[in-house]
Amino acid sequence: MTKTEYEKLLKKIHDKVSETRKDTSSRFELPKVDIMWQGNRTFFRNFSEFPKVLRRDPEKILQYLSKEFATPAQYTGDKAVFVGKKEPHEFTALFNRYLKEYVECPTCKSPDTRVERSNRVTFLVCEACGAKSSLKGQYA
Ligand SMILES: [Zn+2]
Repeated sequence: MTKTEYEKLLKKIHDKVSETRKDTSSRFELPKVDIMWQGNRTFFRNFSEFPKVLRRDPEKILQYLSKEFATPAQYTGDKAVFVGKKEPHEFTALFNRYLKEYVECPTCKSPDTRVERSNRVTFLVCEACGAKSSLKGQYA
């Protein structure tokens, strides 16, 4: 193998690696919802993983779920407890909606955003493209 061939090969490998990296960083995956039913209550066992991934206040996310389900909810340790039987896909659907309303940048669709407050107005600031947009809802 000549030096040029070797360099070409190196570049090829390098391109492939950066391509793979780009793929994984742009895809956003929520953890799998892990629940358990007991009597008339739903124990959401890995609730705490969601606020971490979404980078939002667990209290606000719990309030959001509670409001959408129209049912009381409590947060204890890593778990959240809901009155009534809830299916995992119901939680997933709500998280996806929350993601669109409170996390995703409206400009570039990146989930890498943070919340900023000034004068009672809540803003969504995108760390990917720098866009700043106001948030209408109260659950961020
Ligand atoms: Zn953006």
